[in-house]
Parts: sequence; structure tokens; C-alpha cells
Amino acid sequence: MSKLKIRKKDKVLVIAGRDKGKTGEVIKLFPDVSRLLVSKVNIVTKHKKATQSEPGGLSKIEAPIHYSNVLLVCPKCDKGVRPKLETLQTGETVRVCRKCGETIL
Ligand SMILES: [Zn+2]
Repeated sequence: MSKLKIRKKDKVLVIAGRDKGKTGEVIKLFPDVSRLLVSKVNIVTKHKKATQSEPGGLSKIEAPIHYSNVLLVCPKCDKGVRPKLETLQTGETVRVCRKCGETIL
């Protein structure tokens, strides 16, 4: 996960697959399997069985997609980028946009 530098609540651009070109916010990370959940991306329909309290039916939910299918969207230049990491004097590591040089926290 760290090598791809994507964090929860980041805006990402999908660069491959059915939702190529869409952007969304990272909802959840699954670092063990190199996947992440992005809002409104890779929607799948799940069939729910009826229970005593709820009727059955279809629900649409996001399915995780692979990290390699997304790029971080730079908040300044609004482009999908693979940021580089820089360490500040404070010791904090930040991501830096390779296109416009903006620091992305
Ligand atoms: Zn930028």
C-alpha cells in the first residue's frame, strides 16, 4: 500500500477496466490484497436473500478494485498522478505531484 501512496479519502482516477475515466473517493483500503474501495466505482449488484425482518432484492454496492487501476488525483492541477514522496524537516512524509509540484497531504 505505501508504495502506491494512496490513502483513505483520496480522490482517485480510474485508469483501467469498466470504469476507466471515472473519479471517486477512496472509501476503504485492503492493503493485504492491494485493493481499494472507491465511491461509485466498480458497482456490482448483490442479490440479497429475504429474511424475516427484511425483504430480499437487489442492492448495488462498490466492489474493491486493484491499486494499479487508479491514480491519485492532484488537488491543484486536477490530473491523475503517481506522486513522489518527500520527507519534510519535521520528519513527516508527504506526497508531491510530479506535474505541478504541489504537496499533497
Ligand atoms: Zn499537480
